[in-house]
Amino acid sequence: MSVRAVAFDCDGVLADAGSSWAVIHSHFGTGDATLLKAFLNREISDEEFMRDDIGQWKKVQPKIHRDELFRCYSGVRLMEGARDVVELLKERGVHVVIISAGVDLFVSTIASMLAVDDWASNGFSYDDEGYLMDEGVCRVPAWDKGEMIQKLIRINGFDPSEVVSVGDSSMDLSMHVPGSKFIGFNPTRDEAHLAFEEADVPVVPGPDLRDIWPILFHGEKFPKDV
Ligand SMILES: [Mg+2]
Repeated sequence: MSVRAVAFDCDGVLADAGSSWAVIHSHFGTGDATLLKAFLNREISDEEFMRDDIGQWKKVQPKIHRDELFRCYSGVRLMEGARDVVELLKERGVHVVIISAGVDLFVSTIASMLAVDDWASNGFSYDDEGYLMDEGVCRVPAWDKGEMIQKLIRINGFDPSEVVSVGDSSMDLSMHVPGSKFIGFNPTRDEAHLAFEEADVPVVPGPDLRDIWPILFHGEKFPKDV
């Protein structure tokens, strides 16, 4: 079996930021732990969660321009080793994609920095002048990221066994479609630790993405020293 495609989660895997939604919350001084918990417990939908987030920001500042949102991400860095890993995967002809329930403004930047083959994420809608509308756009349901993996397999004619997904949260386990592989990366929340353990998937405990290499390629060490 060889690896032909790797699907990465973005926030907390390729990007060194726990959540691209939380980055905007910290800009506006908002954020509601109760709702996050409700979302993690699957009590509210992606759409409800997004609408509520946007509502919180607009309560602080009624008109929010796209450029301001974009600037929120200026301080976010790539995860350690992310550039090297993606570069080398591509050198080996492996198809690299990002499947994120994060914010498109941010995920698209990471996608172009890393020159990945394809990406999908959630995001915002704007009026003609670029101001944020009340409803978010859900393309990647956080609890059903597997739909995108199935699409990836179908479009490219991969066998599921040739596809590996890498994620840092329990929701990312939805990428682990039957026959495919999954690597848990740097889980920071307790529920992620627990979910990975229960799912019996290999886990990289630390924040260096190069450590997924031996799991991807049968014990092979990451070949470049950077
Ligand atoms: Mg994540």
